[in-house]
Parts: sequence; C-alpha cells; structure tokens
Amino acid sequence: MIDQEFTGHLLLMMAPMGSGKSMLVRHTKENYPAVYFSVSCTTRSPRPNEIDGVDYYFISKEEFRKKIDNDEFVEWAEFSGNLYGTLKTEILDRLANKQVVLTEIEIQGIEILKPLIPEANRTILYIEAGGWEVLKRRAQKRAPMSEEELVLRYERYEHEIKVKALADKVINNFDGEAEVAKRDFDNLLKEVFLKVNS
Ligand code: 5GP
Repeated sequence: MIDQEFTGHLLLMMAPMGSGKSMLVRHTKENYPAVYFSVSCTTRSPRPNEIDGVDYYFISKEEFRKKIDNDEFVEWAEFSGNLYGTLKTEILDRLANKQVVLTEIEIQGIEILKPLIPEANRTILYIEAGGWEVLKRRAQKRAPMSEEELVLRYERYEHEIKVKALADKVINNFDGEAEVAKRDFDNLLKEVFLKVNS
C-alpha cells in the first residue's frame, strides 16, 4: 500500500472493444466535468485523431525507460509490444486531494494498482456487453475488419475479459440498453462523489 492518505477516488475502467466505452466516456465528460481522465504515457505511435497530452503522452522508448529509472510511474506494463505507464503525478496527487480520477488500463496495471490503493478509494469497473460474438458484431458494424485483425482483436478481448474477475462493479451495456448502462454509471458516480465530498 502507498504511504499516503487518500481522500479522492480512482475508477479503473475496463471496457473491451465494442462494449460502449466511447458512449460512457462522452456521457461522463458531458455530465461530470469534475472527473479527471488520467493521461498515460505510451511508446506506441499516435493513431489518426489522437492528440498528444490528451489521449496519451506519446514518448520514445528511451524517454519511457528514463521515467522508469526516475521512479515516475505508479505502474507500467508492456502490451502488444509497446510500453504503457501511469505517471504518479496523474493520479496520486489528485487522489490525495479529493479528486475523482478515471483511468483505463489493462489488467497488468490493474493488478499492480489494486493492492496499492485502499479499497475505499478505488473501484475496478468492467463494462459487459455480452461476450465476443456481440462485441465482434458491434465492432464490424462500425468498421469491417479483416480476418487477421479479428484474430488480434480476439486475443485482446481474451486479455481484457480477465478484468471481470477482479471487478468491484460490472456495468451491463447490452444491445438496446444504453440508457440502463448510463443510469448504472450515474448511480456509481453519484455514490463516489457523495463519498468524496462527505
Ligand atoms: P491502446 O494502444 O489501444 O490505446 O491501449 C492498449 C491497452 O493499454 C488498453 O487495454 C489500455 O487500457 C492499456 N493502457 C493504456 N494506458 C495504460 C497505462 O498507463 N498502463 C497500463 N498498464 N495499461 C494502459
């Protein structure tokens, strides 16, 4: 456990591809401007439309290694050949200062953070949309994928679904039930803000 007193709350969200992450992120940004979206460092290249400092801090492997040596990360992991890490400055100072922070990290990072942040100050959240076939259909509807891409996506899905076993809260976002998912998410955020502000 980190030797620091926390008064804020960390939401660790895992939303597999096609589970409705963008909808919930948009909903949160529009309705809960006080939620801080943690920006991670990564060594992967930016995708079109991604902005440095907003989606990620895009840095070189050398810069990343330097930050590891300087103990700047609260957690970091290798995923799909790239390095990803959460800077201590992105979350710890905020959690010590009554802020609600949302972060999306993969399971290795979640496993590192879980014992570091007291249970009362964090919620591991998994967005369930109904299994691989549903996710595949939803994603294909948005943008058709090649067989090769599908295989990679499936491997990623297998990695992502492991978070469900660690989750403190599962939000269901089944087909046609986006309003239910939003309501459940609202209830969780209201609870979190009540706790932080009490
Ligand atoms: P992508 O490259 O698709 O943006 O992200 C790949 C995976 O890395 C996703 O599961 C994402 O949640 C995870 N990720 C993003 N930032 C971090 C981080 O700071 N730490 C860890 N451990 N995983 C991260």
